[in-house]
Amino acid sequence: MRIKVIGSGSMWNEHNSASYMIDDNTLVDIPNGTCKNLFRMGINPKIIDSILITHFHGDHFFDIPFYFLLKTKADNKNINIYCSKDGKRKNHNAIKLAFPNSVKDINNDVNLKYCYNEDFSLNGYRVTKYLVDHGRMKPAYGYVFESNNKKVGFTGDTSLCENVEVMASICDYLFCDCMFIKGTDQHMGIDNIKMLIDKYPHCQYVVSHLEDNTRQVLKEENISNIIVPNDGDVIEV
Ligand SMILES: [Zn+2]
Ligand SMILES: [Zn+2]
Repeated sequence: MRIKVIGSGSMWNEHNSASYMIDDNTLVDIPNGTCKNLFRMGINPKIIDSILITHFHGDHFFDIPFYFLLKTKADNKNINIYCSKDGKRKNHNAIKLAFPNSVKDINNDVNLKYCYNEDFSLNGYRVTKYLVDHGRMKPAYGYVFESNNKKVGFTGDTSLCENVEVMASICDYLFCDCMFIKGTDQHMGIDNIKMLIDKYPHCQYVVSHLEDNTRQVLKEENISNIIVPNDGDVIEV
């Protein structure tokens, strides 16, 4: 499994918003600017055919209209979206807002499938969806990919909750929300990740959704088990 960090930042800094590319065709989240970010990294987003959306905040799905429009011009018009049940409506509304005269064409041209299952298989991986706690934004999900006895998790935006602990307890790598120095009821912080390391030390924690001051402290503290990625970094599992 090859995971490319497309974004490791929060909304308010120069780093791209949190998203990841798995192998060559799957994205976990598609924040505003993702298509541009991929082009800048030398990747044409039309090769993406599977997108897992953790939750429907703009910094996790707002590039859907640009991606869908691009797919109408691609040879591979398959789009598989894995998300919560309200996702089809939310994506449709975003496309309608962005390109009101092209909604029908876009929907006719692409080969679109939605999957709301709690677990599913995707390109040879077994994927399990975990409900996490992102304050008032409900539902919010994390995902765990499993292949060859290795497990890689993505928490999405979340406070420290029971399912984050479940993910940390089973994963070899956990790409996790660490927006703040101190966690809140919406986002985890360095204090939460330290607690997870104490309880589940076998796991490598790849922190993301970082505010600049959080990134600074993480770099200064240089904590073992925590990987602080830059946009474009690749982790092979
Ligand atoms: Zn969010
Ligand atoms: Zn977010």
